[in-house]
Amino acid sequence: MIFYIVIVLDELPEFKRNVLEALRQPLEEGTITITRSLVTASFPANFMLIAAMNPCPCGYFGDRIHNCHCTPQQIRQYQAKISGPLLDRIDLHIEVPSVQYRALSGKDAGEPSCRIKERVDKARARQRKRYEGNSVFCNARMTEKQIKNYCSIDEESHKLLEMAVEKLGLSARAINRVQKVSRTIADLEGNEKIESVHVAEAIQYRTLDRGLI
Ligand SMILES: [Zn+2]
Repeated sequence: MIFYIVIVLDELPEFKRNVLEALRQPLEEGTITITRSLVTASFPANFMLIAAMNPCPCGYFGDRIHNCHCTPQQIRQYQAKISGPLLDRIDLHIEVPSVQYRALSGKDAGEPSCRIKERVDKARARQRKRYEGNSVFCNARMTEKQIKNYCSIDEESHKLLEMAVEKLGLSARAINRVQKVSRTIADLEGNEKIESVHVAEAIQYRTLDRGLI
């Protein structure tokens, strides 16, 4: 049985910079190395990070109803508390706008969680089969070599990634993440082939790489 450790950090920019930067190694390698005088020891540190932050110090930047009173500089300073290298290591950046009353009071309950779970279980099973005999068990942990083996894409997808690097300024590490997320989106659809639509969706999840202002 595999156990997943989930770490949830609310108000991410409120954490001290050195604490946040210390997450970089375990997020990348699944281990943490501690050095004390002459001794260095590595420990397993495989976990899923979920973090939340406001778009600005007052919390209303981009809000449809409330006015944001922060200056552009304050907003930039606030967002800069999360470094680029840390953002690079987070697979999905998702903006969550405030919910409208009609959506809250509507009768449409959306897709039931049990059906979503079925889809996730199938995608997980597909990944376990794919990585049988490998050191990894899911797409998120793919090595560079495995990305080359399991994330081959067509010319249209290459053009999208090229555009993401040149126009949106995505780093090599962020592109790496996009490829892994594309693989997962295709798996959730039960599709062994990664299509350009999967790559386009994965690029959408890099909101913070582009900056909010
Ligand atoms: Zn604000």
